[in-house]
Amino acid sequence: MKSTGLFLLIAVLVAGLLWGYGTFVASSRPPHKRPAGTTSPGGRRVEKSDADWKNLLTSSQYTITRENGTEWPNSSELTHEHRPGTYLCICCRNPLFSSKTKFESGTGWPSFYAPYVPNAIYTEPDGHRTEVRCSVCDAHLGHVFNDGPEPTGLRYCINGVALSFQ
Ligand SMILES: [Zn+2]
Repeated sequence: MKSTGLFLLIAVLVAGLLWGYGTFVASSRPPHKRPAGTTSPGGRRVEKSDADWKNLLTSSQYTITRENGTEWPNSSELTHEHRPGTYLCICCRNPLFSSKTKFESGTGWPSFYAPYVPNAIYTEPDGHRTEVRCSVCDAHLGHVFNDGPEPTGLRYCINGVALSFQ
């Protein structure tokens, strides 16, 4: 019985150490490295620690924008939003997309054929796909594909959770 108590004590200590280490890693993770030459509208830049993002965002916003998550298709009410307006980054309010370039892709995710301004976002290779990120705060937004409508032929497939409609 004595050894069970000792085992429990050790387990608790190890769990505590791991939790502390996880917190340390999360708060000291360096900002995402943007591709060389990346610019943003007005040169604006927002950098925060993971711990700060965690405090500012809901858990789904954090998982998707800071940990490259993907929301369930048709889970966002913005997928079928067609009122005139602007879609801002949920993390830093950078204007990312206009309702003028939004279209019904049938995929279940809000879809656009162009960013608000060319440097509102930047892209990076992500396996066989191309990832889309906010140029101001590096938030993961979604992916871009080559099967979109004219005039660009692009389809920006964006998580609604990453957007704030205004
Ligand atoms: Zn942003």
